[in-house]
Amino acid sequence: MRLSDKVALITGGGSGIGRESALLFAAEGASVVVVDIEDKGGNDTVAAITKAGGRARYVNADVAKASDAERMVASAEQTFGKLSVLFNNAGIMHSRDDDAVSTEEEVWDLTMNVNAKGVFLGCKYGIPALRRAKGGSIINTASFVALMGAATPQIAYTASKGAVLALTRELAVVHARENIRVNALCPGPLRTEMLMKFLDTDAKKQRRLVHIPMGRFGVAQEIARAALFLASDESSFVTGTEFLVDGGITAAYVTAE
Ligand code: NAD
Repeated sequence: MRLSDKVALITGGGSGIGRESALLFAAEGASVVVVDIEDKGGNDTVAAITKAGGRARYVNADVAKASDAERMVASAEQTFGKLSVLFNNAGIMHSRDDDAVSTEEEVWDLTMNVNAKGVFLGCKYGIPALRRAKGGSIINTASFVALMGAATPQIAYTASKGAVLALTRELAVVHARENIRVNALCPGPLRTEMLMKFLDTDAKKQRRLVHIPMGRFGVAQEIARAALFLASDESSFVTGTEFLVDGGITAAYVTAE
């Protein structure tokens, strides 16, 4: 198994990429701390892991709150003895996130607090735990939108994901000699609730699809498999990357018909 003896903490583990990663990591031998603010989703993920014979525990924590971030890491160490993999994956895409002129300050602040500050706080409390474990892997979920400009505006979300990439690079360099690897995972557009709610008409979906060389949205399992690689020792020489899993969208200038 690719993650035997590892303890992984996954934020946003109650849905989408986080849930699929939790299931996959557990199937590969990891003990998993599933963090979310939605108790039903988090508990459902844990129930699915336990039913399949794996080890998992749900912790309700808001990644944007320091005391919650501290508690989620403490819970991993108390329950499973250590922390080996910190997957800062929780993120929001606000329905009123728009262009700079229309977006309310409140939407900007909320988005930055969860998507960017949440990663900082995860690292603030997670890195000391990874040090105690003599090293580990941090994976921060960014997005392809941190690398390209989109005509469908979501200014706060895009800026927050750019922050995740910048944070990741610095963390990778600062902690490289401590055997702590830090990588950003950049999913392309996925067929998840989050994106389908944002692209809520066929016209909006088509406008995004036309740019993806593969001609389809990705699925959360495809991102989870990339996260598994970054979490495992198979990626032992990989740090500071912007790991793109995007159906080719960032490589495309014009896509084939
Ligand atoms: P999702 O909405 O299915 O899952 C996100 C989970 O995070 C939810 O369970 C939610 O309750 C939880 N969450 C939200 N705020 C939280 C908080 N403050 N504290 C703790 N948990 C919180 O979305 P997803 O598509 O699986 O997205 C996961 C990550 O992937 C996000 O960072 C997102 O920005 C990123 N991403 C998604 C796509 C896509 O197309 N869906 C593309 C690129 C990047």
